[in-house]
Amino acid sequence: TAKSLGQGNHQYYSTHMEVRPSRLLAQDQLLREAVEKDHGLVLHYQPLWNLATNRLEGFEALVRWQHPERGLLPPSEFISFAEARGLISIIDRWVMRAACKQLRAWCDAGLPSVVVSVNMSAIEFNQSNLVTEVQHVLSDTGIDPQWLEIELTETTLMKQSEHVLATLNALQKLGVRLSIDDFGTGYSSLAYLKRYPLDKIKIDRSFVKDTPEDADDVSLIKAIIQMAHSLSLRVVGEGVETKAQWDLLKAMGCDLIQGYYLSRPMTAEDALRWQQHRCQMIAPQ
Ligand code: C2E
Ligand code: MG
Ligand code: MG
Ligand code: MG
Repeated sequence: TAKSLGQGNHQYYSTHMEVRPSRLLAQDQLLREAVEKDHGLVLHYQPLWNLATNRLEGFEALVRWQHPERGLLPPSEFISFAEARGLISIIDRWVMRAACKQLRAWCDAGLPSVVVSVNMSAIEFNQSNLVTEVQHVLSDTGIDPQWLEIELTETTLMKQSEHVLATLNALQKLGVRLSIDDFGTGYSSLAYLKRYPLDKIKIDRSFVKDTPEDADDVSLIKAIIQMAHSLSLRVVGEGVETKAQWDLLKAMGCDLIQGYYLSRPMTAEDALRWQQHRCQMIAPQ
């Protein structure tokens, strides 16, 4: 069995699970049940640090799947599968609700308010009842809209449709924050930065990872920050792993930092302890 072979035994899955339609179907069923029965999906939380205030800004909620045979799976192992099998909407909705419930629990435990951000696929973003769903989640959990942020990709915004614009405007009117994830990696027209009511852009990790050595990346990041600021958008540097990268982004005027240098994504319990110890603290030096 998979268990006796241990986690991450790729041979087992490439020969048995991925090829056979019956296993695919079982996988589909397993994931659907994990979401619908509310057991199996887990959120990890990665902090974002505000460089201007030198305080914790909030957490990004990142989904994992506690698979009965394969262990804890990262999104790369099941998100595109979920998109292909029509399961991404129920996952994204589960994530948004679970993240808001967690925020409520942290508030109730007396922690200072923080922003929680969730990732949203283009498929979910284009559901006609998305705005209503967001409203329901916020009212059910008693979370003020300003503490919820939705991360979209350039692909989602690429279709310059009236529907995209109307949805973004409705979400902004609600008071929810909107950001562009993995900025700079997708096909996009820069026109949407002006057209859409966005709060921030998140510079993709691929631009950050070779800094400070790679001069081209440094120039690109500098240009992105300047452009964003001139449009009144805030900028997050993703994937910051070293002090040199932290210092560089700070010197270039980047607003927020996210990455392993600050913290890896953590379980909710670890994120609670992390907040209790680090919340009032100054940035890592
Ligand atoms: P993302 O939204 O760009 O999230 C950041 C990813 O980069 C996370 O991977 C995080 O663990 C990783 N990361 C953060 N800091 C560092 C760093 O310093 N170095 C390196 N090497 N990596 C870092 P994760 O959790 O595996 O998520 C991967 C992607 O899966 C996310 O990328 C997002 O696009 C997607 N995803 C995660 N949760 C959801 C969800 O609930 N719904 C949807 N639709 N997509 C999700
Ligand atoms: Mg994200
Ligand atoms: Mg990202
Ligand atoms: Mg990314």
